[in-house]
Amino acid sequence: MPVTHAQEADLLRRQDPALAEILLGELDRQSTTLQLIAAENFTSPAVLAALGSPLANKYAEGYPGARYHGGCEIVDVAERLAVQRAKRLFGAEHANVQSHSGSSAVLAAYAALLRPGDTVLALGLPYGGHLTHGSPANFSGRWFDFVSYGVDEETGLIAYDQVRTLARTHRPKAIVCGSIAYPRHLDYAYFREVADEVGAYLIADAAHPIGLVAGGAAPSPVPYADVVCATTHKVLRGPRGGMLLCGADLAERVDRAVFPFTQGGAQMHTIAAKAVAFGEAATPAFQAYAHQVVANARFLAAALAAEGLAITTGGTDTHLITADPAPLGVDGRIARGRLAAAGMILDSCALPHDDARGLRLGTAAVTTQGMGEGEMARIAKLLAEVLRDQADSRQVREEVRDLAGGFPPYPPPYQP
Ligand SMILES: *Cc1c(COP(=O)(O)O)cnc(C)c1O
Repeated sequence: MPVTHAQEADLLRRQDPALAEILLGELDRQSTTLQLIAAENFTSPAVLAALGSPLANKYAEGYPGARYHGGCEIVDVAERLAVQRAKRLFGAEHANVQSHSGSSAVLAAYAALLRPGDTVLALGLPYGGHLTHGSPANFSGRWFDFVSYGVDEETGLIAYDQVRTLARTHRPKAIVCGSIAYPRHLDYAYFREVADEVGAYLIADAAHPIGLVAGGAAPSPVPYADVVCATTHKVLRGPRGGMLLCGADLAERVDRAVFPFTQGGAQMHTIAAKAVAFGEAATPAFQAYAHQVVANARFLAAALAAEGLAITTGGTDTHLITADPAPLGVDGRIARGRLAAAGMILDSCALPHDDARGLRLGTAAVTTQGMGEGEMARIAKLLAEVLRDQADSRQVREEVRDLAGGFPPYPPPYQP
């Protein structure tokens, strides 16, 4: 350190050509296809530099000033900086930046506030709830008694009345709001009101929108939720990881729920990279980015609707769009594969009140690349051509390569 990434690539090429080839192959894939997965983004070179730094070598169980290992004086400064930046960015009294992932952050929130067997009210998985919101395949479904609310069959919007009714009937210990596929802002004030009425904690799982919150492009759950769980790698554009925000009253419980209850040593290279990302997210440039992400998503949703796709809730407030491609004669699962072959990478997803599957896409990554509304129009056209199975797929693949090639995700040292 410091070495440039070109030097790192050279080093890997000489020592481990097999791995170097994989790494450069993935970089080429990311650079020549369109990353429309709503949960993905391109971190900055500075974030990647922190991730690839010797901080990766350091063991640091515990918290700054109270570690179980020696030699933590310098990494302590990094973690304090990350915490301080997160608190300022989100206006939170307390931040924990050690969670290894979004799921770990949710696990810690439950550990801080609940006991096994407690009742929890959350968005059902068929409506966009996350695995950690009560899936039988996940610890949450096994250790807690989940009750699910859904979305309105007509509008696709959260069935807020149902949230209140179920809360009154089941008296949950916690209410979870947050989704992997909900394209609209959540009414956090409403969830808070219901939680207060039944004496429940409110946990906001803001893994997706937290980056928009940082950029001032979405309402913040921080003033309303007892605990906010989030990822740092989605719209927020930081390293793969999680974090928790809460009031001073819950700080100690949340910290103990992360370490020692559910995790061991903190990953200091990731925490340093989180600090870098929080620093970037506090800039006017990131505010502009977050607003452009939403503008692009709104434009793309309208363009896809014009092509005949059925857009859930009729549009989006965020970076995320869910759409049913059935009017174009294809199911989401088949559509995903066909689009991937043409270089458009996105997810299929459950469609509320429907056995067929839909498509979930987002604009965080393509907006980082610098794409705007003109490119969204091109993407909608190409996507619809592939879904209708009208176009020559090799020709579409070349058009996608051409489009992506005009917006390299990284400056030259990263080019293969
Ligand atoms: C992405 C996401 C998570 C999980 O994040 P991981 O880092 O993949 O564990 C949890 N909850 C919601 C709502 C998410 O969107």
